[in-house]
Amino acid sequence: MTETELEEHEALLQFMYLAPVGLVRTDLAGEIDMLNPLSAQLLLPVAPGGELTNLFTALEGVAPELRRMAASYTAERGAICENHRAQLTAGLRGREDPRHLGITLIKFDATRLMAVLTDLTQTVKQERLLRQSEAWFNAIVTGVTDYALTTVDEQGRIERWNESIGRLTGHDAAAVLGQPFSLFYPPGAITAEHVGDRVREAEADGWSLDDGWRLRADGSRFWGCTMVAPLEPPEATAGPRSYALIVRDTTDRRDTLEHIRRSASTDHLTGLPNRRAFFEAAELELLRCERQPRPLTLVMFDCDHFKAINDRWGHAAGDEVLRHFAGTLRSVCREVDLIARMGGEEFVALLPSTDVDGALAVAARIRAAVAEAAVAFDGRSIRYTVSAGVSAMGPALKGLDSLIKRADQAMYKAKCEGRNRVELAAS
Ligand code: GH3
Ligand code: MG
Ligand code: MG
Repeated sequence: MTETELEEHEALLQFMYLAPVGLVRTDLAGEIDMLNPLSAQLLLPVAPGGELTNLFTALEGVAPELRRMAASYTAERGAICENHRAQLTAGLRGREDPRHLGITLIKFDATRLMAVLTDLTQTVKQERLLRQSEAWFNAIVTGVTDYALTTVDEQGRIERWNESIGRLTGHDAAAVLGQPFSLFYPPGAITAEHVGDRVREAEADGWSLDDGWRLRADGSRFWGCTMVAPLEPPEATAGPRSYALIVRDTTDRRDTLEHIRRSASTDHLTGLPNRRAFFEAAELELLRCERQPRPLTLVMFDCDHFKAINDRWGHAAGDEVLRHFAGTLRSVCREVDLIARMGGEEFVALLPSTDVDGALAVAARIRAAVAEAAVAFDGRSIRYTVSAGVSAMGPALKGLDSLIKRADQAMYKAKCEGRNRVELAAS
């Protein structure tokens, strides 16, 4: 070797040593005369007998076609193959991802070949996941007009925009991207914590579903169902997780199925959820607070001297007062609050993510609204008042029953102290 050749050789060695890809130099028959550490790493596990003297022999088990491809290449120089794929292993007992190798084989000159080896494992995995989710999306999207489909991140923020979102909600990409999916709910219908809850539920149970009013960009509402589901099995990726979000317009279904379901859980006089529905929804809310600790308060209401109202104005007038109180509850509480008629002239409000001060304020506003109002009935003006008791969930309390019991006790205290007032349960 001349000095220049030696220098070139040194430079090549250095380059090969540091290259982020596997580099192997061989003769036309595949006999190796130079290789870098990375290519040894990639080839050793598949080379029969751990022997690394001939490239084609080393790859015989995973890419036997290479030898033939090289032999049949007749041009003087050029690429014999580019990123030719070989699967190195099937995956360890099915638990590890199969390893993929990309092989680029270049004919240098009349006597030499250079192989460039890249570990495609990550690329192949990502491509496969992409194809899977695309197929999944296409299967659901095709021919369907009442779905909006997108993905959200671990915080419930919308990651993509597509036609289906535009069609169902009227939102454009700029309004949607990066926003939490509560964007599709009416104000107050879902809290920031609930958005996170849905994602965590989806992670734990495979999906999370909820029915209710949904909001379009123009402010109009439709009855819909929202589903959150993990996009890939949890073990598939170690990186940030992605979730499918499907919003469906179920207005038609609601008129039939939903009506049956709802009538069993609705109080006919006031239209509020009944006791049974309240317990169902409240238990779920308590579970959420256990998983993700945060304030939860409850307010019990009881109309004052209601017997006297019935006696004086008649039972129908009493009914009108109950409807009026239900309306007051609805207008003061948020949509995320669970309000219900527990029976007779007793009502309840469960306030998620609301602390004692917040609950006292809500109860005070309702008490004041009632005390200032006059219920018009049969040409008369009926005045009434309510007493309220507030309790807060805490480590000392065991479940919904004790939360209600505490609020009840506080409410009776309000009665004893003269009615038309709000009392807080001793903690
Ligand atoms: P207090 O201030 O102590 O709560 O007195 P009260 O008169 O409200 O006492 P109580 O709770 O014992 O009376 C409740 C009354 O509410 C008795 C019942 O007749 C009446 N009531 C229960 N359900 C209805 C209803 O659906 N419509 C009407 N109009 N009255 C009802
Ligand atoms: Mg009562
Ligand atoms: Mg009463």
